[in-house]
Amino acid sequence: MNDDHLEDPHRRRLRERLEVLMLRAEKSASWREETRRLRSLVNLDGFVPVRTRLSSEDLDFLADARDDLLMFAQLGLRLLDLHQPRDAGGITSDAAHPILRCRSCMWRWPCPTYRAFTDSFEESSDLSESA
Ligand SMILES: [Zn+2]
Repeated sequence: MNDDHLEDPHRRRLRERLEVLMLRAEKSASWREETRRLRSLVNLDGFVPVRTRLSSEDLDFLADARDDLLMFAQLGLRLLDLHQPRDAGGITSDAAHPILRCRSCMWRWPCPTYRAFTDSFEESSDLSESA
């Protein structure tokens, strides 16, 4: 079942913007290997003169990469501030391990939003370690 027509316009625009960012990043080339090589060439002034070939997809990505990353980092910090555990209160038989709930969405801790965060960051750190 397709619920796209039920999605409110603001939410749909946010989703479309995130999908554009993801596609732009996927189409651009990774600089991981190149930066490892370039790091050894940093001069005494702390710079490396770079001469490289960039595709138009790379330029599309690089043009906004800094602002996009800052936006995502700010979003992540705001979500982490919102989704924190708190004692759910009530009577428990295990006083050493009280039941915790998210103070924002009230799901049992760790809440789905926090788990999505940890899953994403553990996956990305696995990728960077294996590269
Ligand atoms: Zn939550």
